[in-house]
Amino acid sequence: MSEKLTDLFAIDVFNEATMLERLPKKTYAALKKTIQNGEDLDPSVAEVVANAMKDWAIERGATHYSHWFQPMTGITAEKHDSFINPTSDGKIIMEFSGKELIKGEPDASSFPSGGLRATFEARGYTAWDCTSPAFLREDAAGVTLCIPTAFCSYTGEALDMKTPLLRSMEALSTQATRICKLFGHDVKKVSPSVGPEQEYFLIDKAKYLQRDDLIFSGRTLFGAMPPKGQELDDHYFGCIKERVACFMKELNVELWKLGVTAKTQHNEAAPAQHELAPIYATANIATDHNQLVMECMKRIANRHNLACLLHEKPFAGVNGSGKHDNWSMVTDTGKNLLDPGKTPHENIQFLLFLSAVLKAVDLHADLLRVSAANPGNDHRLGGYEAPPAIISVYLGTQLEDVILQLIETGEAKSSKDGGKLNVGVHTLPELKKDATDRNRTSPFAFTGNKFEFRMVASSMSIGPANTTLNTIVADVLSEMADELEAATDFDLAVHDLIKKTLTEHQRIVFNGNGYSQEWVEEAERRGLPNIRSMVEAIPALVTEKAIKMFEKHHVFSAVELHSRAEIMYETYAKAINIEARTMISMASVQYIPAVIKYTKRLADSINAIKEAVPDADISVQTSLLKEISSLLAAAQTALKKLQKLVSEASSINEIDKMAIFYRNNVFPAMAELREPIDALEVLVDKDLWPVPTYGEMLFEV
Ligand code: ADP
Ligand code: MG
Repeated sequence: MSEKLTDLFAIDVFNEATMLERLPKKTYAALKKTIQNGEDLDPSVAEVVANAMKDWAIERGATHYSHWFQPMTGITAEKHDSFINPTSDGKIIMEFSGKELIKGEPDASSFPSGGLRATFEARGYTAWDCTSPAFLREDAAGVTLCIPTAFCSYTGEALDMKTPLLRSMEALSTQATRICKLFGHDVKKVSPSVGPEQEYFLIDKAKYLQRDDLIFSGRTLFGAMPPKGQELDDHYFGCIKERVACFMKELNVELWKLGVTAKTQHNEAAPAQHELAPIYATANIATDHNQLVMECMKRIANRHNLACLLHEKPFAGVNGSGKHDNWSMVTDTGKNLLDPGKTPHENIQFLLFLSAVLKAVDLHADLLRVSAANPGNDHRLGGYEAPPAIISVYLGTQLEDVILQLIETGEAKSSKDGGKLNVGVHTLPELKKDATDRNRTSPFAFTGNKFEFRMVASSMSIGPANTTLNTIVADVLSEMADELEAATDFDLAVHDLIKKTLTEHQRIVFNGNGYSQEWVEEAERRGLPNIRSMVEAIPALVTEKAIKMFEKHHVFSAVELHSRAEIMYETYAKAINIEARTMISMASVQYIPAVIKYTKRLADSINAIKEAVPDADISVQTSLLKEISSLLAAAQTALKKLQKLVSEASSINEIDKMAIFYRNNVFPAMAELREPIDALEVLVDKDLWPVPTYGEMLFEV
């Protein structure tokens, strides 16, 4: 690295510092007001900003600009326009107007809209999200000025992950601010802070390219377990391999230039699995940055002849990938509302916010579940790995004890590690951040001064998860604020409210082992939902309860929720359809022909031996030939069955029914085809096996 890291950081971002340097004072002040207070942006201000942005971008080599948005595909989209504008003398000038900055109109008919827009009404608009800074991106096509935008339909419905997130942030701010005011704090704004930890796999690109399943579906659809998996736990936090280290180094530099605070990197539990965590940021910026992290990972892996797999379960039998979404609320005065705090007065406020989160998670566990649902995550949630599909909250022994005391006696008098508390309920022990142990099996864990939502899918945008968290907490806070604002004795009312809330929602707290069968049974007794798959999770989006809540806080309209549910069904059906067809193709043209070749070789060998030495023992060859032939027949039967089911699925007209059919019929048939093929993999001559094995992919980087 030739440049100093401090100089390099955010060099490709049109951030505060750049704006301060390049914008006239008045323009800067006006824009800042819009960013901070959400006030409307004056078009004349946009004009000046656009011009400054363009000059800055061109100085750094940009030729194009692009509205960068996050449609419902879960990845980002962009359409590039060059800055050129012809002049009357046959030359060009470089131009970028305020209008072009503020609004774009991509012909967006091919993005998922869930019935919100027919193809003949292709109009979609992108609108500048000035709260997230513009940045430069360099690739083979040159340097492009990327402008983060929200994406909506002609009639104003959100068609992206960004718009609802921004709306939910406003809702949370409004309601949390009311509570802060009741406690006498002059707070104008509350923002959710988010730090997403990103897990991913890296494998050799040449091997990746030999696997149609990885190319088409992002995960291996076949593959026998190698003799060594992750049982020795020797990969976790292990020494980073040379090629991977080179990748990480370049990735960090690229991310730093984009202003992404890449901070932590290490090997994860599974072989070839790694993790990157940035320092937390405001939710919408963290969401943008996470998209950039995923994009950069893929692009830079390629440069190192690696393939980056973001799928939730690229390999059966070893850990899958997720995203831990660390979430907290911070005021414009810099206070983290989930920090237990130092004074009893603040502890009460903390207890209220804590109980609000518990209530929100208990009431809307179904919505959190669906916010983390995608086809890949079905293999993690409800499988045999972290985290389980049942949503519960881990508080740690110390905090749980305080809560129990409050529920039982109305007062918390002591904390578990022996420290005395000052007075009655108005206190909480000052929690040391590591006062309690970690619990890795909890889907929703309190970790010192934040909650860690661990269900989020590794390949998905963190938008939906945070939109949901913000809204469900805002909803509970709004009810609490209503109640407290009407109270005559505030102290007493807060006391009662905390006690009541904790009592009513205590069932969501679980500090034990989330993987155990006992927990599944206990959760059922407690009445907690156990939603095992994406198709079962989707209906939560359109319950009366969900529609009422999202509409109340102007996060989603009923129409938008229905469209999202439809997109999710469609996504599921399409993903499983692609997987099934890939399996059919791989079995038909790769595996079965290879096995036939081997059976022929075995048969030839048997005949040759018989001829050469008539009384030689050929029992090994014969029994192998028999075993392989019968597995081959089983594979063929399973293949035919899968083919039939896929064609049956395509004739179903309603999208939800189709998705359910894929889940209940096609998905199990895929497992039936995989089984004999995986069994064959360990019997057939390695030279004839048509694709790289798990061992080769996971251990040979
Ligand atoms: P772990 O040990 O679980 O990997 P870390 O301490 O590395 O957790 O933090 C994980 C993520 O949580 C990081 O992105 C970090 O910036 C973020 N984080 C830390 N504090 C907060 C907070 N108050 N709000 C939101 N995210 C936070
Ligand atoms: Mg973590």
